[in-house]
Amino acid sequence: MRCVNADWLIVGAGFTGCTLAERIATQLNRKVVLVDRRPRVGGNAYDEYDDNGVLVHRFGPHIFHTNSTKVFDYLSTFTEWRAYEHRVQVAIGGRKVPAPFNLNSLHSLFPAPEAAEMEGLLAGTYGEGAKVPILKMREHPHPRVRKLAEFIYENVFYGYTLKQWGLAPEDLDPSVTGRVPVHISRDDRYFQDRFQTMPAAGYSALFQRMLRHPNIEIVLNCDHRAAHGIRFRRMIYTGPIDEFFDYVHGELPYRSIRFDFLTAQEEWHQGCGTVNYPNDYEYTRITEQKYLSGQSLPKSTLVVEYPEAHVRGRNEPYYPVPREENRNRYERYLRELRALNGSVVMAGRLADYKYYNMDQAVARAMKVFEEEVAG
Ligand code: FAD
Ligand code: UDP
Repeated sequence: MRCVNADWLIVGAGFTGCTLAERIATQLNRKVVLVDRRPRVGGNAYDEYDDNGVLVHRFGPHIFHTNSTKVFDYLSTFTEWRAYEHRVQVAIGGRKVPAPFNLNSLHSLFPAPEAAEMEGLLAGTYGEGAKVPILKMREHPHPRVRKLAEFIYENVFYGYTLKQWGLAPEDLDPSVTGRVPVHISRDDRYFQDRFQTMPAAGYSALFQRMLRHPNIEIVLNCDHRAAHGIRFRRMIYTGPIDEFFDYVHGELPYRSIRFDFLTAQEEWHQGCGTVNYPNDYEYTRITEQKYLSGQSLPKSTLVVEYPEAHVRGRNEPYYPVPREENRNRYERYLRELRALNGSVVMAGRLADYKYYNMDQAVARAMKVFEEEVAG
């Protein structure tokens, strides 16, 4: 490798690394070398056009949603947007009903008098519009509410979570299933965030615009441990924190996914962006990419997700596994990081070992820039 000199080495070209590279290059006028061991930028949000001409997300369907005006305004400097509100159905006993489970799901599955009675009970207990995590609902004192909670737990959460994480919902941090709470509402959207939108030309185009700056040099197919020719003053690392410290405190578990891309010889294959299959098949969900891209094409591309354990060197670590014993192990790595006295800054879904959405990864990168880089 030829010699490269920079003020900052940034390891990982996902949302976290790209945001920090852009900020340092444009706001501090400092030189950045951005390395990624993959052959492309974008991290898990990378997208490209497939043989059907469909814009596909190679590492899982990515829907942008945020309540943060700051993050939305920041990303808006690199992309136009296409309004898109994601809708998901969940397959229960041969029927497909809205997810997160809501009042429309209730009325689709239960006879009218029973559904009306349950609706009254839920609205009276929690209030119209409330969002109730399933693990909370299971603890409700009223036996009718508990019975419905048990039904939802078994038909929506248990099988899906077991496939996705290899663990039951109660063996994970409650925030995991709390991402998809029961919604006492007729609103069928998967998210209720203020901004729900997709980059009009895709994520990869957004990343290209973020990184187009003379102060940023990108080196791909490059693991930072093999980047011997790069001289730098400080480092930002967005990869797995346990790997950085050579697993001295043992491995942090991650979940991985195998993505199968299928072509449907029809314009549209399913009734909404994603269908979840908690209790059927080995996969968890099927997403029809054209809902996300808004394209009009005669064929359609589907992505099917088969969760699996992460095995080093064999597949990618996509999801940190939020539960107490892992958080304790992560804290031990955090102490190693603190001992480096700021010479290495860490941020991102893998380095922070946190289940961030894209907007949270960008928000975290902006905060790190303000507090640990520029300050
Ligand atoms: P990453 O995107 O993981 O980037 C880290 C980069 O670091 C990778 O490119 C990796 O190759 C590189 N790297 C690691 N170690 C090294 C090393 N030693 N040397 C060089 N390079 C290295 N978020 C949403 O908001 N909406 C969604 O719908 C959504 N769907 C998702 C679906 C799936 C299946 C997955 C896995 C995630 C989804 N996310 C979604 C989350 C989103 O992907 C993350 O929030 C975001 O990509 C995090 O960005 P990051 O830069 O922290 O990490
Ligand atoms: N979940 C579930 N059934 C569903 C949808 C979600 O059990 O139909 C649980 C499951 O544990 C999942 C978590 O809720 O991993 C978070 O779901 P989300 O759709 O936010 O997952 P992501 O898009 O991040 O993979």
